Amino acid sequence: MSEKKWVYLFNEVEQAEKYAGNWDGVRTVLGGKGANLAEMTRIGVPVPPGFTITTEACIAYQDDQTFPEGMWQQALDSMKVVEEQTGKKFGDPGNPLLVSCRSGAKMSMPGMMDTVLNLGLNDETAEGMVKLTENERFVYDSYRRLIQMFGSVVLGISDEAFEEVLDDYKKEKGFESDTDLEAADWKELTKQFKAVVKEAKGYDFPQDPVKQLELATKAVFESWNAKRAIDYRRRANIPDDLGTAVNIVTMVFGNMGWDSGTGVAFTRDPGNGEKILYGEFLMNAQGEDVVAGIRNTKPIREMKEETPVVYDQFQEITKKLEKHYNDMQDVEFTIENGKLWMLQTRSGKRTAKAAIKIVVDMANEGLIDKETAVMRVEPEQVDQMLHPQFDLETMQAAREAGKLFASGVNASPGAAVGQVYFDADTAEKMAQEKGQDVIMVRPFTKPDDVHGMLASKGILTSEGGATSHAAVVARQFGVPCVVGASMMSIDSNKREMTSNGKTVKEGDWISLDGSTGVAYLGKLDLTTPDLEEQEELMTLLSWADEIARLEVWANADYPKDAQRARTFGAKGIGLCRTEHMFFEEERLPYVQEMILNAEEAQNMINNVERLEGFIESGKIDGRAMTDETRKNIEAELMESKKGMEKAAAVKAYKSALENLLPSQRSDFYGLFEVMDGLPVIIRLIDPPLHEFLPSQEELLVEVTQMRTKGETEGLEEKEILLNAVNKLHESNPMMGLRGIRLGIVYPDIMRMQVRAIFEAASDAAKKGFEVHPEIMIPLTGHINELTHVQPELEAIGKTVMSEKGVEFDYKFGTMIEIPRAALTAGEIAGVAEFFSFGTNDLTQMAFGYSRDDAERNFLITYVDEGILPENPFQVLDRKGVGRLMEIAVSEGRKVRPDLEVGICGEHGGDPSSIEFCHLVGNNYVSCSPFRVPVARLAAAQAKINND
Ligand code: PEP
Ligand code: MG
Repeated sequence: MSEKKWVYLFNEVEQAEKYAGNWDGVRTVLGGKGANLAEMTRIGVPVPPGFTITTEACIAYQDDQTFPEGMWQQALDSMKVVEEQTGKKFGDPGNPLLVSCRSGAKMSMPGMMDTVLNLGLNDETAEGMVKLTENERFVYDSYRRLIQMFGSVVLGISDEAFEEVLDDYKKEKGFESDTDLEAADWKELTKQFKAVVKEAKGYDFPQDPVKQLELATKAVFESWNAKRAIDYRRRANIPDDLGTAVNIVTMVFGNMGWDSGTGVAFTRDPGNGEKILYGEFLMNAQGEDVVAGIRNTKPIREMKEETPVVYDQFQEITKKLEKHYNDMQDVEFTIENGKLWMLQTRSGKRTAKAAIKIVVDMANEGLIDKETAVMRVEPEQVDQMLHPQFDLETMQAAREAGKLFASGVNASPGAAVGQVYFDADTAEKMAQEKGQDVIMVRPFTKPDDVHGMLASKGILTSEGGATSHAAVVARQFGVPCVVGASMMSIDSNKREMTSNGKTVKEGDWISLDGSTGVAYLGKLDLTTPDLEEQEELMTLLSWADEIARLEVWANADYPKDAQRARTFGAKGIGLCRTEHMFFEEERLPYVQEMILNAEEAQNMINNVERLEGFIESGKIDGRAMTDETRKNIEAELMESKKGMEKAAAVKAYKSALENLLPSQRSDFYGLFEVMDGLPVIIRLIDPPLHEFLPSQEELLVEVTQMRTKGETEGLEEKEILLNAVNKLHESNPMMGLRGIRLGIVYPDIMRMQVRAIFEAASDAAKKGFEVHPEIMIPLTGHINELTHVQPELEAIGKTVMSEKGVEFDYKFGTMIEIPRAALTAGEIAGVAEFFSFGTNDLTQMAFGYSRDDAERNFLITYVDEGILPENPFQVLDRKGVGRLMEIAVSEGRKVRPDLEVGICGEHGGDPSSIEFCHLVGNNYVSCSPFRVPVARLAAAQAKINND
């Protein structure tokens, strides 16, 4: 059996593909960086020779902290091949080969893991290099960088220990910048850096290049489990067991003189998606100088003037790479003595805005198809596009009021308002423990700061550019960010910052605009962007609609919400909660009047109706009645009617309902008008009646106080109210008199609502609007409830249509939100023409968790402890609640094949739940208007992923 292959040369990508099966497999084994270095080599892009030690080796290393058998020998053998490819030798003073040792996981984790450059330098090879390059300054600058990086990354010495030595040296000599240092200075510093190692570790900096390589490789493997890498993986949902590969790459130097240089670039603008080369470069510098923002970089287009031939070649290569990968690329390159080398390419991180523009442009350019475009955008990126911003007037007013604090690079768009903190730990603490909105301010950020960045609403730095660590991380996670606000000075001891003559102290409020790169003092008002102006997003969503099978409807109670939903692309209203309108100030008195008299009045009304029923049918309890009985019943009916007509309670009850009817009618009319041509589901009253009355505790306190103080004015009304509240009190109101149960006990309320719906629909139809009302009865648990209520309500609808002389399509249906309803859905579908899953209640009742209390009491702990994978009120529980849904759909459609099925619980806007609704065969999902665009994309992705 041949030995397991742990190491692949960059020109062995075919072998890797054969082993791993496909490109995704290659990325799993070689990591993203290694796979792309190999792929670039295959397609003829200039890549310095090198090899990749696999992620599998890393995983094996994690288990027993030693290299797996055979791995190291394979690495040494590969080194021999690289020596042949470059004509140089590792450790040979005559012609030394220097290499970098770079981490590279399958998923990009920018700056999270370690890298060591210039391996292979020691006292002897350094001297050899000096002879070869005749550039002593460069060689000793490189050597001291190796000692510094190796010291901090591999040996665990703090970077500050080296920086301190360098700073002291510069001070002593009166140097201002690193470029002032000559060869002798770097040579001296190399000596001093070696002393730092010796003092910290008690042994010398290793001179043996092979030992250097071995220790660096181990350090990179170990950096997979550094705290910052683990934190990042949690947030980015990257599994822990992927491991990182290690790439050993021949060093090429951008700091060999003024015909050398280095830079980073995106093939399109990662901020707004525009099709231009976007990036920065520095001549005579090393890569870390660009990324760390230590020297002021130049925009990439200026490279055209400084080195036109290389620039043209670079443009060609970036075009080739974009076309090859069919995606916007983020590349790193180095020019060594006029020769261009590509050191990395990967799909570039981008803002939500850029992500959307890029896929739409690429589909229009014919580089990708519409399905790929739809799959490449995350639903949450669509959400970010709807996030708040500062409008122009607000920002103008802030400027005029002298609130401009600082400006810098607009690194990640969106607006944020929060309190300032100057380090990651405090930022995280204030956000998590105190629930504050936090803006984290730093000179620049490092991977160690990520936890603070993620907890913040916004990030502001005084140093760094568009590709700095802060910018890249903020863009990825959609956190508004301004970097390089260079006029701003931060005093971390005093915990304050100054800019534009103003001082901001820790805890003060600022407002940050990541779209324009400006920070303002105090709190500015946020506004939500207009979807219609976002052309590319509209296009992408229209493609999503072409693909998706599920429709997206919206939960909207008022015409203005329905309008927003329609603008956002909703194809119907899936839930109008009628009772929300009862809470309006001018209606509440009628609602309370209705409730206070409901019991007494409805008892009388129900009794009269019962007697009328006997007379009409000529039967009692199914048996024909005698003439004598009929006479008695007629007499009783007369008596009851008289009593009812005189009763104050009945009068008050009826007049309250009559007063509510026109308001409800006008609410519904507005919905029909806005939703012209589309279905509108209106749900009849659902909550327990006590919700419309003052709280029992408060009333009791008030009444008791009035009694003890001897106040009589208004006491009687309060006592009546308290009495009603006491009567309505239930131990478990969510399982009490609500929904269809109210419709049975107090039928006049739902009757009034159905009349209002049909009157409104008739009026709208007469005005020329196309109406499709669907009347939804909540909380059915047993078929008999529905047969008791629905036919009678439908009759009212028909009466109204004939009174008004119009006809239109309508449906009567029910919510499925009680497990029993789901289990007996076959029976229910015999009566109901549509189902809508109320998964808020269905989750509550399937789990037996109170939806009002569980999150506060134990659910968050459950999720933290991993007892539940997710909060089931946010992400649909497929196994339990989902199983009930499956049963309901299949039983229901057996009886009524064209049964319309939707969901209107909060899950309707959650991508995973939407996917489940697609799988289960729903016709639509209904969610809040703001989630509609997200749901449209998720519905298309569900189809692409599953069909
Ligand atoms: C539900 O239960 O999912 C639902 C939509 O109804 P409500 O939230 O109003 O109870
Ligand atoms: Mg409900």
